[in-house]
Amino acid sequence: MRLKRSLSHLAFMMKALLQLVEAYTITSLNDAVRELERQFPEVLWSGNRHSNQVALTFDDGPHERDTPALLAVLAKHGVTGTFSWLGERVEQMPELVSAAAAAGHQLMLHGYRHRSFLVEQPETLHAMLDRTRELLARHSGRDPLTITSVRPPFGHLTRALARRLLAWGYQPVICSIMPVHWLLPAELSVRQVVRQTESGSLIVLHETLGGPPVAHLTDQILTRLAGRGFSYVTVDALRAGRATAGGAPSYTR
Ligand SMILES: [Zn+2]
Repeated sequence: MRLKRSLSHLAFMMKALLQLVEAYTITSLNDAVRELERQFPEVLWSGNRHSNQVALTFDDGPHERDTPALLAVLAKHGVTGTFSWLGERVEQMPELVSAAAAAGHQLMLHGYRHRSFLVEQPETLHAMLDRTRELLARHSGRDPLTITSVRPPFGHLTRALARRLLAWGYQPVICSIMPVHWLLPAELSVRQVVRQTESGSLIVLHETLGGPPVAHLTDQILTRLAGRGFSYVTVDALRAGRATAGGAPSYTR
């Protein structure tokens, strides 16, 4: 009996400690993003914190199973999202570009292949980005000049690379919330996103990586965030909302 009580006290303490650590980490993560925004204003990290806008984005696709499942979940919740895709995968599954575009989602670039932009020769990188943009435009029926947002693989970005992307007509994007959901139980990732999400959050989840299905995580996140009054917008709309709020980063190309 005494042991049982000690164990339950221990369990209570552990739970309190975990909650404290979790709360501290969430605050630290959002603070860290604000610091990065100050240091790298050329990059879109998040939107206007005085709006109700949140952007939900998906990297690494398209994917033959994850993309159709995500399109169904987004339709179920009436949410518009942004797909950040790889040119070489788009070449294999062009019909998914058409499907995502027909549903009104934004398409942005994650590069032609999943390799750090920092190890590519600038001319090669420029050509691969233009090729990927051309593929997205062709299969979506959209004007290539409207497809400008780029998230570099692994978030590898230097100030020099950000300026180069801007000079080529692209807009660098990172994110403010990124759970490593392919390594964690679904509940932990869902809880992290739900707790960390605030006005202006730019959330990234991943297709293709395994672990709990990303469509299931998205469904859970949207269900639990329902009622908090967020408006789900594309990355381009998040950037525009930031600019109209006077919170726009000031930089020159
Ligand atoms: Zn990626």
